[in-house]
Amino acid sequence: CDVSERPHFPARPTFSFELYPPRSGDAEAALYASIAELVAASPEFISVTYGASGSTRGLSLAVLTHMLSTTSVKPMAHLTCVGSSYAEASGLIREFLDAGITSFLALRGDPPAGSTEDDDFLGDLGSAGELVQLIHRVQKEREPFRFGDVPGFPGAKRVESGEKVTIAVAAFPNGHPRSRSVEQDLDTLLAKEAAGANLAITQLFFHADEYLSFVERAREAGVTMRILPGIMPVLSIRRLERIIELTGEETPVDLHRALESAGDEEAQRRVGIAHAIELGTSLLDGGAPGLHLYTFNQHSAPLAVLRGVGLLDDAARYPSLEESDIA
Ligand code: FAD
Repeated sequence: CDVSERPHFPARPTFSFELYPPRSGDAEAALYASIAELVAASPEFISVTYGASGSTRGLSLAVLTHMLSTTSVKPMAHLTCVGSSYAEASGLIREFLDAGITSFLALRGDPPAGSTEDDDFLGDLGSAGELVQLIHRVQKEREPFRFGDVPGFPGAKRVESGEKVTIAVAAFPNGHPRSRSVEQDLDTLLAKEAAGANLAITQLFFHADEYLSFVERAREAGVTMRILPGIMPVLSIRRLERIIELTGEETPVDLHRALESAGDEEAQRRVGIAHAIELGTSLLDGGAPGLHLYTFNQHSAPLAVLRGVGLLDDAARYPSLEESDIA
């Protein structure tokens, strides 16, 4: 089936970005300048991460409301449920909805520092799927209800919620660290869609086959929502090693070797961007519905990647791989 025929699949590949809240006043000014550059490229949305156990609640919301009030981009709020009671999680969702946020990435969240996947660290909500359900419930409770026709039943009316929310969830092409099998990862994703998720964004990975074969298995398992590949231009060996530590993904030997032999910072940066362009091109050629870029709060490298894969309308405005500076 041609994915472009499905109404909820945009006809052409999309792109979107992930940011994290700034950690200082200087970082905030730099981030807002980068947001302006990223917004000018017309992404589908920009998502903002949420610190485990709510540690960045206010900062995340400030970046999201900055985007709402000063740009035309759709901001997407990451929310986590680790360690929260129902009342706390509902309050958090209400606070973000009240601020005008209608797109969420519903996550369980990583175990708090000092805990492992085997410890009992969850609160009232046992998984991201339950957070998806809670977002829908809270949104419906606070929305003014509308009445719509029920197709096939003349005269009957159904109660509909006014505004539609986007609820994205995480997907793991190479498996979640806690997962026992590929089947469990697929079942978890299917359960999230059944709970009301309408978009999936993947954990980062380094080879197109890992994403493409995961999507194929997800479709066979019955997942129908868009699954956006999350990719990151890895601009230094230090960053690659840190990412591997954080995600538990296997070290991509080819990229590690290329960064190692590149030499200085600028050469490593070019290797990282070229790798992301190659990966993005293979993903789009393989049928990916778009690219979600982990930006590390920078604009130059992600825009160079998008230019390299041909997703920018006004490409000449943006730096190419050769032109992109160290930012
Ligand atoms: P879940 O879907 O709940 O799954 C976690 C594990 O539990 C999986 O192995 C799953 O198979 C298993 N599981 C789920 N339901 C059940 C069940 N009913 N019974 C048994 N096992 C079950 N973390 C942050 O703290 N802040 C962020 O902003 C953030 N952003 C992220 C963005 C993306 C795109 C991704 C991929 C991850 C992000 N993370 C973030 C990390 C995420 O919180 C962790 O990867 C977390 O460990 C898993 O989250 P999840 O939403 O996939 O959890």
